[in-house]
Amino acid sequence: MKKNKVAVTALATASLVLALLGGSPMSPAQAADKPLIGLTFDDGPSPERTAFVLDVLKQKNVKATFFVQGSNVERYPDLVRRIKAEGHVIGNHSWDHPDFPSISATRQKQQIDRTNAAIRTVTGEAPKLMRFPYGNSTSSATGYLRTIGMSGGVLWRWNVGNPGDFECPGAAGVQKFVMAEAAPGAMILLHDAEDVLSCPASQWTYLARTIDALRAKGYEFGVVAPSSSANPVNQGSPAVVVAPAAR
Ligand SMILES: [Zn+2]
Repeated sequence: MKKNKVAVTALATASLVLALLGGSPMSPAQAADKPLIGLTFDDGPSPERTAFVLDVLKQKNVKATFFVQGSNVERYPDLVRRIKAEGHVIGNHSWDHPDFPSISATRQKQQIDRTNAAIRTVTGEAPKLMRFPYGNSTSSATGYLRTIGMSGGVLWRWNVGNPGDFECPGAAGVQKFVMAEAAPGAMILLHDAEDVLSCPASQWTYLARTIDALRAKGYEFGVVAPSSSANPVNQGSPAVVVAPAAR
């Protein structure tokens, strides 16, 4: 409580100083121009964790992007419907997570098409984004994505490379990873299924705390949208983080 008061006082003082210097206190428009960061959750949905993630996001009023596996969409359609209903973006993360360079072009296409169909069946809308398993794309798959109007190969911010959530570094470790990769327009790699399910449950306290820590650093939360140009913040991904209402 004391800390909050200090923060509010500091903000008021900053506004006053700005006013004295001839600038104006922060307007709502400027407040809306906060740098955006995009939380992305891969591999789900899972009955173990996706509802929890959605609960935290709702409680914190954060919209995020979920790169789902088609096989899990088929198994857990209610979770996918909830992701959509709560205003998050859904992307394709293949049917069952093969390493694309190790399978035939025909199978790559099937992985993409079958997942798009499953998402469309459940949500009424086909995804526009693709994130390859392990981030490993192929020229035939990215070429195919272009022909069907999808953005090919959404990666993530990976400059520091601390252990990610799937390596079970604990709540403080995941927060350290996220804060180290945080940058305006960054897409942060997180998971709500598969490897993270073997991490201690206590690791999940990272989510609410990290959202608060990012807001304290001045960030607001956006969702991933296709882009025609390569995004240098996110390893050249053809995608950007936009305000949820702007998509
Ligand atoms: Zn994955």
